[in-house]
Amino acid sequence: MTAHPTPAGPRPPFIATVPGFPRIGAHRELKKAIEAYWRDPALAPELAKTAAALIDRRLKRATATGLDSVPVGTFSFYDQMLDVAAMVGALPARIDGIPDHRTAAATGDDASAAELLPPWLDRYFAAARGADGIPPLEMTKWFDTNYHHLVPELDPARGFTADPSFLVAQVRRARRDHVPARPALIGPVTFLALSKTAAGATGEPLDRLSELVDAYLDILDALAAEGVDWVQLDEPAINTDRVPAEMEARVAGQWRRLVEHAHGLGLAVLVQTYFTDGQRAVDVLADSGVDAIGVDCVAGAVPDVSGLPASTLIVAGIVDGRNVWRTNCGRALGSLAELAQSHPVAVSTSCSLLHVPHSLAAEPSLANEPELRARLAFGEEKIVEVVSLARALHHPGGQRIRRNGFLAAAEADKSADVSSATGSGALERRKGGVHDRSPFPLRREAQRRALDLPPLPTSTIGSFPQTPEVRAARAAFARGESSECAYEAAMVREILHVIEEQEKLGLDVLVHGEPERNDMVQYFAEQLDGFHCTSNAWVQSYGTRCVRPPILHGDVSRPAPMTVRWFRAAQDMTDRPVKGMLTGPVTMLAWSFVRDDRPLADTAQQVALAIRDECRDLEAAGAKVIQVDEAAIRELLPLRPEDRAAYAEWSVESFRTATGGLSDATQLHTHMCYSDFGSILDLIRDMDADVTTIEAARAGYELVDAIANSDFDLPLGPGVWDIHSPRVPDVGEVTERINHAVRTLGPDRVWVVPDCGLKTRSWPETRASLGALVKAARKVRASL
Ligand code: GLN
Ligand code: ZN
Repeated sequence: MTAHPTPAGPRPPFIATVPGFPRIGAHRELKKAIEAYWRDPALAPELAKTAAALIDRRLKRATATGLDSVPVGTFSFYDQMLDVAAMVGALPARIDGIPDHRTAAATGDDASAAELLPPWLDRYFAAARGADGIPPLEMTKWFDTNYHHLVPELDPARGFTADPSFLVAQVRRARRDHVPARPALIGPVTFLALSKTAAGATGEPLDRLSELVDAYLDILDALAAEGVDWVQLDEPAINTDRVPAEMEARVAGQWRRLVEHAHGLGLAVLVQTYFTDGQRAVDVLADSGVDAIGVDCVAGAVPDVSGLPASTLIVAGIVDGRNVWRTNCGRALGSLAELAQSHPVAVSTSCSLLHVPHSLAAEPSLANEPELRARLAFGEEKIVEVVSLARALHHPGGQRIRRNGFLAAAEADKSADVSSATGSGALERRKGGVHDRSPFPLRREAQRRALDLPPLPTSTIGSFPQTPEVRAARAAFARGESSECAYEAAMVREILHVIEEQEKLGLDVLVHGEPERNDMVQYFAEQLDGFHCTSNAWVQSYGTRCVRPPILHGDVSRPAPMTVRWFRAAQDMTDRPVKGMLTGPVTMLAWSFVRDDRPLADTAQQVALAIRDECRDLEAAGAKVIQVDEAAIRELLPLRPEDRAAYAEWSVESFRTATGGLSDATQLHTHMCYSDFGSILDLIRDMDADVTTIEAARAGYELVDAIANSDFDLPLGPGVWDIHSPRVPDVGEVTERINHAVRTLGPDRVWVVPDCGLKTRSWPETRASLGALVKAARKVRASL
């Protein structure tokens, strides 16, 4: 390893930390305890005990591993945005009447654990999930991650208040256990930038910054009273266009107020950013007096910190907090040493470890994959990396470093570099000429001859209800408890059932229903080379919902067809066209952990080539319609506007590679979830699918109007009812929606479909809703 210069400046107040921890428990203990409490409020004491155990273990362990400043308060019962909403009295008014069930907790044997259940807990859960007749808060993606946060609705008629008791209870436990505690919460700018104004009220949330900062000053008072010396406020939004340029001066001014107040209390302040290089926050807050700034050194370039006072601590997020690879410690140490020439430096992860699984030790599936395992670092291992790097930076050559396995980690880097450099041959061989389809008007003619569909064709998005029987059959096969033959028979029985139901309903383009799929990404990841599917590597997606993203670790290829047998089974049962169903390359990447040793664009292209082969095989098996879902295409859109053109280019390229081998007569569908597509209509146009289905019902049909007024000129299926809710739509409202689409888009372009797949719905709801859909489509058809 090369020698690095030793840090020039003063010794930093701390050298090793992280912005936050995973909180759901390595075995999803918190999920289970919360869901049990929802079912039975008498289980409040158990919930408190589970929370206490998770918090205590987490903080003590981080301290024992060597973090010398530990964030406290990144534990949450549901979501960190909702935590702040509760803490500043900004839960929506509509849940005011929800009664408090926690009282049972006070009778539990651990009274200090009971303190962890805040008085607002039941209202908090009601705001997150809704309650009888009370709609929940909206949920949306946390920046460009797969975590989803709740969107607080701020009512200007209700002032902010400060109730930091939940945070204080955590701080007390930490201090009792001698944890070097640094209370952490989302900062006021980010909280407002990600909130919305309650319906009926006016003004932008950010207009209330100074009012909210008043509440934060009270929170700081309460924290200082606990005897802590640092606080962390997360302000990732300052780096994004969520905070308009004209707000910068106000942000700087309010931050100065916060910092002055903190200093008056003897508190030092860390402003934590992540998901972009942090340059804008560095610039905007340069004169605010903040004592430390946490920057993401993985998402982009290491920011230029020369504008910051020489005493400002740089908390360098050099260990990737949202991917699963080991850090290249030699390279990391080089960047750290450079930063340390001008400023005191502490080592950290690029963002909260919320976005990675807890620990490799909890993942049994890696036992037989020693080579892959050696390249991986989950949450626990990343903390070890942070500590090792911090010690290497600040005590170069020290014995402790070697004992800590730092050199072993550096060795692993080398082998990782070697193994990930293997073959990109498949890609080279097949470059060029990957998209050979004719322009849309010619394809439309060919498809008209091949398909003979009525105007306003009806179809669905792919999945049908996944009944307990279907899940049980799949699980039994996965555990090795049933034979391939029995499993296949069970799936084919279900496919037959789904086909019969659709024929009875009178749908025009059928689907096989996807009974064999646990998840639209994992199903394919399990069959493609280059992916590893984990068994316990859970990551929180929202609230108590967790996912296990597959790990894309090598070159991707398709050893054998993946969906053809199920398609064949379905198509053999009916004369109507059955859609072949595939997941697109961008969505495969968006919902996996991806390689970081080569451009995403190259990996997308590899996945695309595998899907391209599957498309060709489906076509050869008789598929006249093929749908390639890109549910997540909006999700990967870069946070920085200047990065978006490059994204549009490679994402479109990968989709066109995946689908561009289809003949003109085969009708290509794509489907996308979410309805905030306004910004990517050009991208979707360039994907050039013959039919695009989107989620539209919840947001009203404004999106349809926007599309009608845009350059997007291809056929469109705006979902006619919201499948996320159990409500069955009536024929009248569906008719109204179809009429709206026909009016704005013209009758030749409209498909009639639900918003998304139906796998979470029950059969009775599904039958009734699709019945209304078909009836409404026929009604409008007759009126054309
Ligand atoms: N074809 C998938 C399904 O119907 C699409 C799911 C999605 O868009 N998230 O389940
Ligand atoms: Zn969808």
